Amino acid sequence: MPDTTDANAAEYTPVTPAYRSVYVHDRCGARLEFSPENAKFYHENPTHYGSLWCRGCRRTGSLGPAGEFVWADGSGKVGT
Ligand SMILES: [Zn+2]
Repeated sequence: MPDTTDANAAEYTPVTPAYRSVYVHDRCGARLEFSPENAKFYHENPTHYGSLWCRGCRRTGSLGPAGEFVWADGSGKVGT
């Protein structure tokens, strides 16, 4: 019998990037998510944009330290 343990199989699980992607619009409470491409972009260029469109309330909200969007994992504001 070949030795095929679950532990070995787990090593071949595709690695997902650790970029934060889920965020919340504080103003309306909508929970939103960046595509993997956008999550990577925001990771590398956090202050590139000054505002962000919210699909929840269909408004544009500001980004940055005084912005309206926060990461869902509690790690701070989007755009900082
Ligand atoms: Zn909103």
